[in-house]
Amino acid sequence: MITVRTVADMKRLARAWRADKKRIGFVPTMGYLHKGHLSLVRESKKRTDVTVVSIFVNPAQFGPNEDFKKYPRDLAQDSAYLEGAGVDALFYPGTAEIYPPGYRTYVEVEGLGDRLCGKSRPGHFRGVATVVLKLFDIVGPDQAFFGAKDAQQVLIIKRMAGDLDLDVEVVTCPLVREPDGLALSSRNAYLGPEERKAALALSASLRWAEKAAGAGERDPARLVAGIRSVLEAEPLARVDYVEAVDPETLEPVAELRGGVLVALAVFIGPTRLIDNIRLNV
Ligand code: AMP
Repeated sequence: MITVRTVADMKRLARAWRADKKRIGFVPTMGYLHKGHLSLVRESKKRTDVTVVSIFVNPAQFGPNEDFKKYPRDLAQDSAYLEGAGVDALFYPGTAEIYPPGYRTYVEVEGLGDRLCGKSRPGHFRGVATVVLKLFDIVGPDQAFFGAKDAQQVLIIKRMAGDLDLDVEVVTCPLVREPDGLALSSRNAYLGPEERKAALALSASLRWAEKAAGAGERDPARLVAGIRSVLEAEPLARVDYVEAVDPETLEPVAELRGGVLVALAVFIGPTRLIDNIRLNV
């Protein structure tokens, strides 16, 4: 595996691959890798000729009071995982490589970025769309792989790719969970043992919702209230939001019918975790 630190070198490498008729797969991440990230790598390896993974903790997607500084980082461990997974190149740029002094250009995907997580994290998806567009331009992938764990993110990236006629296919990969149900996340590293147990409330509440819908519940307000009561039974949990929305527009649904995205964000102590489930009612 080659580790590339500069935009110019990454562009050069990708250009050489393209000249060689190699199809490029790309997995953008913020590092502190886990099996969720590695499932995206596997999918990329399956579908393309060369796989690039980026690790970049993107300051533009963190709010002023969020965890940018303390976001977990471990390059040695990440490199070992990626090497073991057969990744061809790790793109690991410094902050000034992506946002040099004087940087002023941002991408806004209107109407999708201010719902769900965007409500409690203003500017978050503007930062995400901006960095992903830059990374797409640098790497020039044929396919890019994103996890359903961040359902709103992948929807926004797909919209951006369509709206801007980008020559990249955005592929959504399934959400990977721990055996006990907890969605894998780099932020799970923040959880102490009691919090780790409390965090099971997220997936448990979604399993409850799936059962309720399966048993005939069609009222989104009752479904959301039921999810909230599962979450609120956990003393360490504080609900940020729970919503049942249309998976394409992210607007709240009036009725549970067809495909419905049930998404939530919950603070476990100081740590904000997200989870979601796609119901097919
Ligand atoms: P992050 O490093 O958290 O920015 O995530 C990088 C990519 O990995 C994003 O496309 C995420 O959706 C994906 N990802 C993170 N956690 C999971 C998970 N538990 N299952 C599937 N994909 C995930």
